[in-house]
Amino acid sequence: NKLRRPVIAGNWKMFKTRDEALQFIYAINQEVPEASAVESIICANDVLLRCLVKRQGENLKIGAQNMHFEENGAFTGETSPLVLETTGVTYVIIGHSERRAMFNETDETVNLKLKSAIKHDLTPIVCVGESLEVRENGTTDDVVKQQVVKAYDGVGADEALKSIIAYEPIWAIGTGKTATPEQAEETIKAIRNVLVSLYGNDVASKVRILYGGSVNPKNVDVLLQQENIDGALVGGASLDPMSFLTLVKAAV
Ligand code: PEP
Repeated sequence: NKLRRPVIAGNWKMFKTRDEALQFIYAINQEVPEASAVESIICANDVLLRCLVKRQGENLKIGAQNMHFEENGAFTGETSPLVLETTGVTYVIIGHSERRAMFNETDETVNLKLKSAIKHDLTPIVCVGESLEVRENGTTDDVVKQQVVKAYDGVGADEALKSIIAYEPIWAIGTGKTATPEQAEETIKAIRNVLVSLYGNDVASKVRILYGGSVNPKNVDVLLQQENIDGALVGGASLDPMSFLTLVKAAV
């Protein structure tokens, strides 16, 4: 499994004040393992990014949760990738299911944002995943494959290598219902096969694919043991510093 460096990314969503965010960083900064062993990332609210970037170390990086695909323009209330880049942010979540469901994110905007993020030296964490209805009618692999194909439309191999994919079944996000390790592995393997068809074996074997959906310190080990699961995107269990640290250490 460990040809690929593991990634643990916390998604704080719209939680944490500035003081809470700083307390979190101070609590774990010294203890996060070296980046050569695991890439540890906290994706925070835009307003917090600057103060967190100032305190980030080599071992703990800061990401945004969304961005616009344009560098600038009349887009009131949006965040420019150039501003993220020049603020020292190095990762950005793209196409999170909450943004797809509530903020009109589509496969097309995900594609534009993926290209724009790479252009701005931001590592995109591209989220895909099926609804409960899709899971129950048995078309998960087709739906998720389509999301990946559309996200990577016109994206070259070099750019794809700079991206991370997160497979997050919508029915598992924030619900306490985790996909079984076998379900997660099966769909993630299908995603890797899409990458094989788009870019060939070599590239496909290097792109990190994470699982997300109610990952916690108790279930993380069995998920990470799966051959194709290279880490986790974590919401709820990333809010507590000791819980996040446990997840990071589990990935080493
Ligand atoms: C997420 O927000 O990407 C997520 C996976 O949330 P949770 O871990 O809370 O299910």
